[in-house]
Amino acid sequence: MKTCKQCKVEKPFTEFSKVHKGKYYKSYCKKCSTRVANKWKKNNSQRKKSNDEIFRKKLGTGIYIVKLFDVPLYVGEGNINARKHHHLFTKSDKCDSQVKQYCDKHNINRKLLSFNILEYEDDKQRMVKKETYYRTVLTPIINPTTK
Ligand SMILES: [Zn+2]
Repeated sequence: MKTCKQCKVEKPFTEFSKVHKGKYYKSYCKKCSTRVANKWKKNNSQRKKSNDEIFRKKLGTGIYIVKLFDVPLYVGEGNINARKHHHLFTKSDKCDSQVKQYCDKHNINRKLLSFNILEYEDDKQRMVKKETYYRTVLTPIINPTTK
């Protein structure tokens, strides 16, 4: 018989798993070992999830640039993935993307465009300020900001 250090119940050795090549028994009984392991797993997966959420949120919004080869076409801000899809892939005629309209007008295949993140930012006010800054500095063809 052996007393479990977790539940303090005296149990037969068959209720304990062996460790170190079967030389010793674990100090926690099988039931407690499982419970402790599950609890750890649960806590850990929650921690992982919240890290992922923080990461996603951080990558979620920012200022981006659409280029045709090396030529800056458009600088914008907002949800990165949504804006990328909006400008590069939406085929609807109702799409208000200035990039799409420009490419349609000038017969540019949007497959030639590149989309890059200039800066991640999740504060709306700072984002608008930075967008203006980049539009001034990079003078994209479609939406330059002139000083
Ligand atoms: Zn136990």
